[in-house]
Amino acid sequence: MPYLQISNVSKSFGTFQALKDVSLEIEEGKFVCFLGPSGCGKTTLLRAIAGLDIQTSGRILQGGRDISALPSSQRDFGIVFQSYALFPNLSIADNIGYGLKNSGKSRKEVAARVAELTELVGLKGQERKYPSQLSGGQQQRVALARAIAMAPGLLLLDEPLSALDARVRLHLRSELKSLQRRIGVTTIMVTHDQAEALAIADQLVVMNQGVIEQVGTPQEVYRNPKTAFVADFVGHMNFLRAEVVGEGNVQVGGLILAAETGGLPAGEIVSLCFRPEDIQVRGIAAGNKNTIEVRIEEMEFLGTFYRADLALNGPTSPRVMADFSMNAARDLALEPGKIIPIAMPADRLRLFGEKRG
Ligand code: ATP
Repeated sequence: MPYLQISNVSKSFGTFQALKDVSLEIEEGKFVCFLGPSGCGKTTLLRAIAGLDIQTSGRILQGGRDISALPSSQRDFGIVFQSYALFPNLSIADNIGYGLKNSGKSRKEVAARVAELTELVGLKGQERKYPSQLSGGQQQRVALARAIAMAPGLLLLDEPLSALDARVRLHLRSELKSLQRRIGVTTIMVTHDQAEALAIADQLVVMNQGVIEQVGTPQEVYRNPKTAFVADFVGHMNFLRAEVVGEGNVQVGGLILAAETGGLPAGEIVSLCFRPEDIQVRGIAAGNKNTIEVRIEEMEFLGTFYRADLALNGPTSPRVMADFSMNAARDLALEPGKIIPIAMPADRLRLFGEKRG
């Protein structure tokens, strides 16, 4: 049985429907990311799970218990917000121990647990300080320690890393993941940052306009996006307008390419999608049907690879983004202005109808 079972949850604010009949199951111990653009409903779903907002309709079960109508105070979760939301007038130790103290634990028990938690989140030695004396990243560690202090069944994280600067954010992200793995708590994190979600999640839930577009591991969602929205939102993707010109063939800007057309009729207008890293520039098999000549318009050095802007067929033709390794760029002396052959493996080309999906 899944640990968290969300069935047909809808939520309206006045006439606006923020969640539309959302169903989702989450296994115990997983790290799940709700990923989507601003306003897609991910925070609303998190808040419904926490009971901070009650859904308009639908059911939520946690550990087999129907929590749909329970007030937040009677649910079993810890939560961390983007704004650290610490008590400014309490020390770090008292912030972390706040819930423990209120639950009637003895001073000794609270002190022991706080010591354990400060160690766990890497704040040993900071116990007597106040929130204003800590950096943003440290404050978020305090918020995290406070959220897991009562050993909740569910840890909810609402954009917990968004307020931090890039380096701290990366560091805390990997610590968060290893902490979650160590304590094994089922975790849901809301984020609009696809790179963050890909890096940290066991399972991604991609949302758009109040519905779930796709659920899967980061690898599944990246490699096999089910809708044009997911293809576009997760990772980088080239989208070209194309026309089906018969079984297994599409036409793009005057070129005929082999692609799996999956029974679409000739004349159908589709979006042809492929990832920048799927474009081959070396080791192209002789006779590869999708080998074409392109002109390198621009090349951007991105540290471990180059991202090139290619013109498919003359300067006014469609442009595509391609990633080239450092070795390929050096061996082939790739540079702007050069005309080169590239191949687009047919099994990596994906077609979506002009309408979504
Ligand atoms: P963000 O990353 O911007 O927070 P989100 O995906 O978390 O985006 P939600 O906060 O879930 O989005 O909001 C979904 C939609 O519901 C938005 O259009 C928002 O304006 C609307 N909404 C959220 N809370 C309320 C509210 N209390 N009253 C009215 N509308 C709301």
